[in-house]
Amino acid sequence: MTGWLHGSGLPVDNGLVRDSRCRAAEGVYAVGDVARWHHQQLGAPPRPENRTNAAEQAMAVAADILGADRAYTPVPYLWTDQYDTKIQIPGAVPAGADAGATVVDGDPATGRFVARCRNAGVVTGVLGWDMPKQARLRRQDVADALAGGPAGSDSPRESGSVP
Ligand SMILES: Cc1cc2nc3c(=O)[nH]c(=O)nc-3n(C[C@H](O)[C@H](O)[C@H](O)COP(=O)(O)OP(=O)(O)OC[C@H]3O[C@@H](n4cnc5c(N)ncnc54)[C@H](O)[C@@H]3O)c2cc1C
Repeated sequence: MTGWLHGSGLPVDNGLVRDSRCRAAEGVYAVGDVARWHHQQLGAPPRPENRTNAAEQAMAVAADILGADRAYTPVPYLWTDQYDTKIQIPGAVPAGADAGATVVDGDPATGRFVARCRNAGVVTGVLGWDMPKQARLRRQDVADALAGGPAGSDSPRESGSVP
């Protein structure tokens, strides 16, 4: 998809690499599946290949062109239906030694739950497993954490842990 950009002088590395304002170079913007960027809170996410991301990036670019000078720091969102199960992931699910998750709604034993995911104690995402309404509500936990708000670390309302 990016082959035609090689030799253009634009930074291509698993997508067209942009800064936090969606700019690949002065006056050059990249939006959608083709673009990768540095998220100021989550670091360098992979390219989120979904329509929500493409639409939100387009709005961010329009705002930047109009002079908003605002970093693009969305809560990334992924959903998929696997047979009868709806899986929703606002934010990012970390991997590695510092990663963990805590069940905050439902119960994995029933096949319906929401888990809050964290990296080094900081909330980075939510995994909703066949609990769409609760997963949508818990998206705010991620937004708060990215903004340095109350859900940035584990809170007492949690009901169980997933290692
Ligand atoms: C089978 C499938 C199912 C999907 N289901 C979902 C879903 O349920 N929900 C969801 O959110 N997302 C879904 N996606 C992902 C979603 O379609 C993409 O994330 C979204 O379309 C990205 O938008 P875009 O504008 O970046 O790219 P695109 O929609 O791919 O648009 C890029 C356009 O650029 C054109 N183009 C490419 N190269 C050139 C060139 N050199 N010169 C001129 N034009 C060029 C292409 O022909 C295309 O029209 C799905 C994708 C696939 C393939």
